[in-house]
Amino acid sequence: MIFDEIIHGTQYYRSPTPLPNEWEGDIANMSDFNIDALQIRINWRNNERREGEYDFSDVDRVMELAEKYNRKVVVKFLLECAPQYVFDKYGGTRIGPRGEQLRGAYHGAFYGGWRPCFTNPMVQERASLFVEKVAERYAGRKNIILWNAWNEIRNRPMEDCFCLHCRKAFGKYLENKFGSIEKMNDFYGATEESFENVNLPASAHGYWDIYEFKKFKGGVELYNWLRFVYEAIRKYDKTTPIMSHVGFTSAFQSSISDVCDDYTVSKAVDFWGTSVPCDSSMDTHEKRLDFLMLNDFLRSVDENYFIHEIYPGLGMFKWYDTTFDLRFKLYGGLASGAKGLIYWQYRAERVGHENDCAGIMRMDGSPREVAFEAKDFGGYLHDNMQYFKNSKAKKGDVAIVFDFDSMLLSEIEDSCGVDYDFSHYGPQYYYRFAHAGMYRLLRNENYNVEYVGVTHPEKFKDYKVLYFPYYTMLDTKIVPYLQAFMENGGIVIADEGFGMRTLNTWMQPYDIDCKPLMTARLRERRLMHGEALEVNGEKIRISPYKSEYVVDGGETEMSFLDGTPAVQSVKVGKGKLYLFGFSIGHTYFNTQSKALAAFMNGVLNDVGVEKYAFADSGKGIYEKRLENEKQEIIFLFNNTDEEQQFDLKSEILSIGGDGKADKNIFYVKEKSMAYAVINKA
Ligand SMILES: [Zn+2]
Repeated sequence: MIFDEIIHGTQYYRSPTPLPNEWEGDIANMSDFNIDALQIRINWRNNERREGEYDFSDVDRVMELAEKYNRKVVVKFLLECAPQYVFDKYGGTRIGPRGEQLRGAYHGAFYGGWRPCFTNPMVQERASLFVEKVAERYAGRKNIILWNAWNEIRNRPMEDCFCLHCRKAFGKYLENKFGSIEKMNDFYGATEESFENVNLPASAHGYWDIYEFKKFKGGVELYNWLRFVYEAIRKYDKTTPIMSHVGFTSAFQSSISDVCDDYTVSKAVDFWGTSVPCDSSMDTHEKRLDFLMLNDFLRSVDENYFIHEIYPGLGMFKWYDTTFDLRFKLYGGLASGAKGLIYWQYRAERVGHENDCAGIMRMDGSPREVAFEAKDFGGYLHDNMQYFKNSKAKKGDVAIVFDFDSMLLSEIEDSCGVDYDFSHYGPQYYYRFAHAGMYRLLRNENYNVEYVGVTHPEKFKDYKVLYFPYYTMLDTKIVPYLQAFMENGGIVIADEGFGMRTLNTWMQPYDIDCKPLMTARLRERRLMHGEALEVNGEKIRISPYKSEYVVDGGETEMSFLDGTPAVQSVKVGKGKLYLFGFSIGHTYFNTQSKALAAFMNGVLNDVGVEKYAFADSGKGIYEKRLENEKQEIIFLFNNTDEEQQFDLKSEILSIGGDGKADKNIFYVKEKSMAYAVINKA
C-alpha cells in the first residue's frame, strides 16, 4: 500500500479559477465537509509566461493556505498548457498527417496553449526545467502527499502527431523492438529502407504501420513523457509518491483517436489512476455496471489506483447528480478497492466552454445538495479508517483477459479502411463492447468479476475461468500458461476471432497457434447481425460475426440455425476450452440473452465459481467486498423501493452509509447504500 489511509480529496485550483479572494474561505470550508486533500494544478503557461521567468506567487499562496488549514496537498502538472514561446521559438506545434499545424488552443480544461508535441526535444527540455523549478520550490513541504505528473495522459486526436521528431522517435521505437530493419521487414512483409526514414502511416489499409504507430503513440511515447516528469521531480523529492492518471482508460476508449495503453504507460510512475469516463448520473443499471467495471479494470492495472475526477454531476446546465448518483460512485469506488477518491472539482467552473461544470459547490462557493453527501462519506471514512487502511478487494474466480493490442487491431480492421486516409466513419468498438458485455453478463448473474492483463499470464492460475474477448490475437508465449491453467481444471472461454490474426497483423489461414490446447481452423467468417441461434427456445440475434471453426475432436455445445457449430469445446487436462463462432460478449451486450447467461452459469457452476451471497442484480441489489487479514467489509447497494435486510451471520462491528445494524442483521435503506464490517469466519 502506498498510503495507510484512503485519500478523500478534491481538485481545487487551476488558474485562473477560483479567484484569489475566494481561496481562504473555500479552503477553510473543506474541513466542514470532511474533504482532507486538495489538488493544485500548476499551469506551465501561467507560471512561465516568458521563457525563463517563473512566477509562482499564486501557487505559493494556495500552498500557504492549505498549510494554515491543515489540508493535504496533491500537486498536479498541467504541462499541456504550454507557453507561447514553446511554439514560436522551438517549433513545438504539432503537425497533422497532411502537414497541417495543430496550434496551441484555449479550452475550458486546458486554459491556454493546448498543446505542443512533447516528443520535440526542446519542448521536453523546457517542460522538464519547469517541473524541476516547481519540485525545487515545493519539495519538502510536509503537507504535499502526492505528485501527479500528468493530467489524463493520452494520445489524441488521431492527427497527433506527424512532425519530424515524431517520425524519428517512431523509427527509434521500431528499432528497439526489432533490432534491425531486415527483421522488421521480414516480420511484417514491409519494405522500409531504414528506421531513420521510416514512412509514417498515411492510411489504415496496411494495418501494420498504423498499428505500430498507435502502439507507439499510446504506449511507449506516453511512458517516455511521464518518465521525464518523474525524473525531474525525483531530483528534488526522493520519497513522495508520484502518480499519473488516464482520462479514459483502455477499457473505455477508442484505440485510434484517443489512446492510452494503461498497462504499458502506468509503469512509468509509482501508481496509476483514472478519471471517470462513464456517465456521471447512475440512473440506469448499465451506467452503474459501467462505473463498477471501470474500477474493476483499473484494479487490474494497479491495485493502488485512485479515481480522479469523481464528478458531483457534470453540470453545464444539463446534468446534475442526485445524492444517490454521487453516493453510488463514492461507495462503488471504495468497495472496488480505490485508494483515493478525488472530486472534480470544488467549485463549478466558469471559464471557457466548461460552464458551471462539475462542482461540489456552485460557482459562487455555496454547497449543492451533493456536498453533504461528500461530507457524510468523508465522516464515515474517518470513523472506519482502521478497517479500510489495510483492506483489498476480495478476489473473484472469473477474469476477463484484456489485451490492448487485440483491441487496437480490431478497431483498425472494423473501423478504418473506408478511404485512403484515417477517416473512420461510424467507428466500431466490437472488442470494447465484447468485454463490457461479458462483464455485464457476469455481474447480472451476481458473480465477482475481475480483469487481468494478457501481459500478466502468470496471474492466470489465480482464477477458475478466463474469458478472452472478441478478436484475441494469440501470442504463443501465453499458451504454456493456458495449458497449465487448464490441466489444473481451468476453463477458457475463447470468443469469436480467437487466434484469427497472428502477431504480425496477418490472417492465420491454417491452424490457430495454440497447439497442443486444440487443433482448430477458421473456415468461414461473415459479418452478421441477425437471428442465427436458438437456445432453449430463445432466438438470439448474434453479432458481430458468424464464424465456422473446424475443431479436431470438438464437442458441439450449441449450433447455429443452419446446423453448423456455434460453440465447440475440447478437454485439456481437467479443464476445458470453449471456442465461440459468434461473440458471446458482444451479443450479450446487445441482447441481454437469458440463454447465454444460463450457458455461462452452467460453465461457472461446474467448476465451483461462487456467486455473491446477497446480490440480486435483477432486483437492483449490488454487492462488493473488501477484506483484510481479520475483517470483511460488505458493501450493499439497494436500488429497490424498499428497505432490505441481510443476515450477515456474524456480529456487525461497524457500519457506514445509509444502513443500520441489529446484531447480525444489516438493514439498508431504499435507494441507498451502506457497508458493514464483520470478523472473518
Ligand atoms: Zn510530434
